[in-house]
Amino acid sequence: MISGRTRVAGVIGDPVRHSLSPVIHNAAFGALELDWVYVPLPVEAGRGADAVAAMRTFGIDGLNVTMPHKSEVAQAVDRLSPTAEALGSVNTVHRLGDVLVGDSTDGEGFVCSLRLDEGLDPAGRRFLVVGAGGAARAVAKALGDAGAASVVVAARRPETAERAAALAGSGVGRVGTVDEVSDVDVVVNATPVGMGVVVPFDERTPTPAVVPFDPSRLAPGQLVVDLIYDPAVTPLVAAARERGVAAVNGVGMLIHQAAIAFRLWTGEEPPLEVMSAAALAALAHAGHPPTGLDDLRR
Ligand code: NAP
Repeated sequence: MISGRTRVAGVIGDPVRHSLSPVIHNAAFGALELDWVYVPLPVEAGRGADAVAAMRTFGIDGLNVTMPHKSEVAQAVDRLSPTAEALGSVNTVHRLGDVLVGDSTDGEGFVCSLRLDEGLDPAGRRFLVVGAGGAARAVAKALGDAGAASVVVAARRPETAERAAALAGSGVGRVGTVDEVSDVDVVVNATPVGMGVVVPFDERTPTPAVVPFDPSRLAPGQLVVDLIYDPAVTPLVAAARERGVAAVNGVGMLIHQAAIAFRLWTGEEPPLEVMSAAALAALAHAGHPPTGLDDLRR
């Protein structure tokens, strides 16, 4: 029941209506019986700083930030976490009294997902990150911080690839090409290639060629992580699995970045199973694809 004491969190973005974050966080608040509510807040491009000012005016206690506001919000908060400072990007704002602190939880969420969901410690492993945008930069930095042996960044613009690779740290990050896909332990698709492309669940129908690299270069023993989660089974995930290669979508990263934000806002341990079930149920409800909740994740 919403009352005068209910605390408010939300997500700003343009667009934001498709966001799974309200479903995930409201399920978590409900499970822990916390008097909080989480709402989507459509904010048009160029008004991220206004949204931070509104956070102060309305007394909003927690904010997620998605495209296209991540850089602008990094300029507008009072303080940045070391990760947000290094990335120049904020996806979560929390309060320390009257001080608004910007953080970036995507990279840590990715690494938590590898460790907790896949049982894979990045330390000493070789990674190929395809793409060099915001998600790729967060992932490259988090992998470097987690002790990865190498993080090769392959992207179509060399200057952005260079910047992303540098975040993994000297001697760890470097620019490469997707031809190196056979030489790594884990391949991460951090491009939107394949987003919204639903693979037919009919083995006689060939997988559409909407993949960011040639999947025939993959081999069993490798892990593919597609940061896309809509559709739940992306063309890349399907193509990898066809070759006997383990492949997961971006739901794990989504849940763990949300869990870190939840902890920052409420100080409570996030109910991971509840959050995960809520996200997967919402994806299933959206019609992707009716094969059972486990299939949606794995
Ligand atoms: P972004 O900042 O726009 O970066 C996208 C990157 O992909 C850029 O390097 C871009 O290259 C490249 N790219 C775009 N289209 C391409 C194409 N057709 N071929 C090759 N490269 C292409 O986006 P982002 O925020 O990093 O997001 C990337 C993906 O990660 C999206 O699918 C997003 O949904 C997903 N994501 C998932 C989570 C999660 O929690 N699971 C979190 C964040 C993001 P150019 O710079 O040359 O355009």
